[in-house]
Amino acid sequence: MGDCIFCKIIEGSIPANKVYEDEFVLAFMDIQPINKGHVLVIPKKHAALVHELDDDSASKVFQAGRKISAALRKSGTKCEAVNLFIADGKAAGQEVFHVHLHVIPRFEGDGFGLKFPDGYESKPTGEELAEMAGRIKDAVEG
Ligand code: 5GP
Ligand code: ZN
Repeated sequence: MGDCIFCKIIEGSIPANKVYEDEFVLAFMDIQPINKGHVLVIPKKHAALVHELDDDSASKVFQAGRKISAALRKSGTKCEAVNLFIADGKAAGQEVFHVHLHVIPRFEGDGFGLKFPDGYESKPTGEELAEMAGRIKDAVEG
């Protein structure tokens, strides 16, 4: 798709260190890893956001993520655990608008983490949770 850097990696016009490829997905090393061994899994069909992906591509991305996660654990890189992460939209931290699943090796003391917002400690009431659940359920069904 046009200027998409990840589509160019799929086409081969931009190089990448590939670790897995099949009909639906490509996995390659992130150029600026959070920890050594950080891999990105992308669908071969361009979609900017997760809900725009077709079901097959979405499943295959997660299947490949599992494969890479297992491989990282036996690859010799420092990998006590793994984060599977998708930034889905700008406000969620997405910088490249072609869906990508980050597969990030983690270990105690690596310094990476999620930051929680102010007010996280105060839990919503039962009514608030139920009201929100109702809205989301309606949206899922609608
Ligand atoms: P996002 O912030 O969109 O979730 O993550 C984009 C990721 O793509 C970043 O981790 C960044 O290092 C990686 N990235 C950006 N451009 C390139 C590139 O040209 N090649 C590779 N291999 N990774 C890239
Ligand atoms: Zn693309």
